[in-house]
Amino acid sequence: MNQADKELNTLVLNKELGGRKKLALGLYVHVPFCSTTCDFCAFYQEKPSKKGMDAYFAGLRDEISRFPPNRALSTVFLGGGTPGLLQPEQLDQLCGLVNSLDMESGAEWSIELAPSEITPEKLQVLHDQGVNRISMGVQTFDPRFMDALGRKHPVEKTLSAYSMIREAGFFSVNLDLLFGAPGQTLADWESDLARAVELQPDHLSTYCLTFEEDTAMYVRLAGGKLKIDPEREAEFYEFAWDYLPAHGYDQYEVSNYAKPGHACRHNLNTWEMNEWIGYGPSACSQYRGIRRKNIASLEKWAAGLLPGGTPQFMEQEKLGPIDFARDAVLFGLRMNQGIDLGKIATQFDLHESVFAESVHFLDRLCQEGLAEKQSPDTFRLTKQGRILCDAIACDLPELTER
Ligand code: SF4
Repeated sequence: MNQADKELNTLVLNKELGGRKKLALGLYVHVPFCSTTCDFCAFYQEKPSKKGMDAYFAGLRDEISRFPPNRALSTVFLGGGTPGLLQPEQLDQLCGLVNSLDMESGAEWSIELAPSEITPEKLQVLHDQGVNRISMGVQTFDPRFMDALGRKHPVEKTLSAYSMIREAGFFSVNLDLLFGAPGQTLADWESDLARAVELQPDHLSTYCLTFEEDTAMYVRLAGGKLKIDPEREAEFYEFAWDYLPAHGYDQYEVSNYAKPGHACRHNLNTWEMNEWIGYGPSACSQYRGIRRKNIASLEKWAAGLLPGGTPQFMEQEKLGPIDFARDAVLFGLRMNQGIDLGKIATQFDLHESVFAESVHFLDRLCQEGLAEKQSPDTFRLTKQGRILCDAIACDLPELTER
């Protein structure tokens, strides 16, 4: 262990937060390979190669032995990139590494798959290894917008992949949909939602197309070839908020809907500000009082993890209970059930007085019809408030210890 590791370990051991040791622990593994780059994508990924794959698996082994979880995992999420691009034997290897870690019985284990990479062989490997939740990136059922988003799979491939997943017998299946593509109308969005509901997945995630810097979409936006229309985006959000619950999917967060018992526990763990470890280049962790992001370079990430090397992070900060509590409020307000300030105070071992200014702020939102107060401690955003949740998050006051 080098000096930096020693200091970090001492720091986290000294700073273990009261009551946080028993919190749910999630694992995120970033698989950084994609065959092409989607026009809207800002995730770290690169083209697969034999050399890259070898470096990736060696790096993962090193990362696990250097930063092993200190308790059983409650959830696992294999994301990317495109984990489905791995061949069956590589998926077997990846899942074998996850299975070398201690996992709670009944742990939720998800993997993101793109329709074009799904085969019965891969699904069999995943099922045999214990994966129980598949999240398929459908984005749209309309070929016109598939092209606009730089996606290549034909709709028939989405449908056949979905049948394969169902035949393989996974407990839970999520479909990701994207709205707000240039030229998409509300009627087009309704048609996408209807086609998704027809398939009867257990969970649906609906995301608004965003224009992240350094993406092909952003370049078109900056060049005046596209424009953002927040009012149209709000209409799409609100349409899904009405449509999906009316078709048997409870909304539990701004962008997420589930049939009973199928809410994504991995995401809930994150939004509740519990703990998670991220392995792989660009993966984020929030663990033992430290939030950090691995370097977004396969080569540098793997080299830093070699014996004698120094692990490379793009961001690393030590956070205290006040920081975690504020984020629990921010993310909690995005959830339909809202927040319970008393519970958050207990979770982070804080006196409730730290929320004094937040309560004033939330009371004001209630007067403006943007939030509802269910008890002196519990608040949730109204539909009108949820549309403005990003702006509300920016205005939320800092918490202060008195
Ligand atoms: S959106 Fe997903 S599949 Fe497309 S390039 Fe990004 S990570 Fe790869």
